[in-house]
Amino acid sequence: MKILSFDIGGTKIAFALVDEAGKLLTQPVKYSTPASKEAIESLLKKIIAQHENEIDAVAISTAGTVDICNQKITGSVGNLPEGYGKIDFQALSKKKVFVVNDANAAVWAEYKVGHAQGMDNVVLLTLGTGVGVGIIIDGHLLKGKSGAAGEVHFPVRQDNHRRCGCGNYDCLEVYMSGTALNLDAKEAYKDDNMTSHDIIAGLKENDAKALSVFERWESMVETGVRIFASIFDPDIILLGGSMAHFINYPMMEKHVNEAIVTSPIKLKEAEFENNAGIIGGALLCAESLK
Ligand SMILES: [Zn+2]
Repeated sequence: MKILSFDIGGTKIAFALVDEAGKLLTQPVKYSTPASKEAIESLLKKIIAQHENEIDAVAISTAGTVDICNQKITGSVGNLPEGYGKIDFQALSKKKVFVVNDANAAVWAEYKVGHAQGMDNVVLLTLGTGVGVGIIIDGHLLKGKSGAAGEVHFPVRQDNHRRCGCGNYDCLEVYMSGTALNLDAKEAYKDDNMTSHDIIAGLKENDAKALSVFERWESMVETGVRIFASIFDPDIILLGGSMAHFINYPMMEKHVNEAIVTSPIKLKEAEFENNAGIIGGALLCAESLK
């Protein structure tokens, strides 16, 4: 089986041909995400037309919540252009088009061919602009009634300190995401030019202030991990996103396991940094064709 698999995000669109076992048959090709709905549609159409005759289906892993029939986007597409959520993906190809939320695709890739292989209860938290959450319970992808299970838009503070993109104050997302570390850096240094990359550079030079900013962010990530460990009793929690690379995993795993009342969890960095959406989307698409 050959699947043309896309990963569509706010900054880039990547695609590759993938087989039913999740193996990349071609190197992923990347484009900057076009600035309008129409331009995205015509880019996808052009790529699909080039491959239409050799493929069995199209998989689309995308930012945004996706309906439980895996056909259309139902909400919250982040920084994608206006109208993107209304694209009729099936109309882009004569073959079946399977649409899936990118966090759900990513956790499926980890479960089938990544760091969560052999474990039936898995949570993947991707710390990026927001926090992408994918949850597998008893070998099933948890979707919820509208495909939006696992959103981290609930407050973890009560003092209206930081506004979240969703409009509420102090959601876990604005303290745990990659963006949160940026905000922490600006706050700590009272300098709007500071970013998470300055903090990481500081860590490498053993700078005490950078270390304290990073550790404060890490403690909020730990809070998030504890929440998911407590609610879902998973075998493993994986953390993804570029800032997740710098987390002290053995220490956080120890802290979390000392705090939770369930049996211990494993905590690891996710295996796939860039191709998780492409691989997981193709695997889920292949399964839906069976
Ligand atoms: Zn929020």
